Amino acid sequence: ELFARKPFITGNWKLNPQSKSEAVDLARGIADSITGESPSDVALFVPFPYLETVQGIVGDKLIVGAEMITPEINGAFTGGVSPCMLKSMGIEWALAGHSERRTLNKESDEDINKQCKMLVEEGMNVVLCIGESLDEFEKDLVDAVCEIQLKKGLSEIGADQMSQVTIAYEPVWAIGTGKVATPEIAQSVHKSIRSITDKMYGSSVAESTRILYGGSVSPGSVDGLLEKPDIDGALVGGASLDTTSFGRIINFE
Ligand code: PGA
Repeated sequence: ELFARKPFITGNWKLNPQSKSEAVDLARGIADSITGESPSDVALFVPFPYLETVQGIVGDKLIVGAEMITPEINGAFTGGVSPCMLKSMGIEWALAGHSERRTLNKESDEDINKQCKMLVEEGMNVVLCIGESLDEFEKDLVDAVCEIQLKKGLSEIGADQMSQVTIAYEPVWAIGTGKVATPEIAQSVHKSIRSITDKMYGSSVAESTRILYGGSVSPGSVDGLLEKPDIDGALVGGASLDTTSFGRIINFE
């Protein structure tokens, strides 16, 4: 296959767990569930204080990344974390545009675009999260919202930088609600995201870019989702905090 996309299973720990010792146990359990040659790439996005510890535990078995960066290079931004800081610690991946940051932290598409550009310009990789709210879903605005978030998020990012970009489609109504999108709904949105990517960057970029689904992915739903041709992996929140569940998701069938 010319454009075979390797499946990519990613976990997002959010504001969990509450102690370093629990983070150590969780990272060990997850690393142990990867036995032999994994059929997928695996990444864990973890809170800043645990990055170095988790990375030390998982080694080369999986990717460790940050859940966010600050959309500023340096200077007077108390609490900020820059791509350079992460890179100097050997961390080369970060999420951008998660719906919780868009909503709770009021990050705009412009902020998110800045984060994406800063990461790719630093030679790092970004998982750009997009997705519609329940209201937008009910008004049939899914494709329109994804197109706007994609175009704004990736503004000024060139085709040659797209190998550093992964897209995650996360319908807001599915995040943390237990209401996973059906494989059919997710596939139809992923297909539309791929065609927008095609219009923006051409077919070779569109066919090689991985598009992950996120929102209440569980051991029970992962197989059906990953079966679909345009669903290349998963961004997993709640279930990434349980070694048995996440282990089963990593080893999807
Ligand atoms: P969830 O979270 O799997 O708990 O729904 C997904 C996410 O927010 O990335």
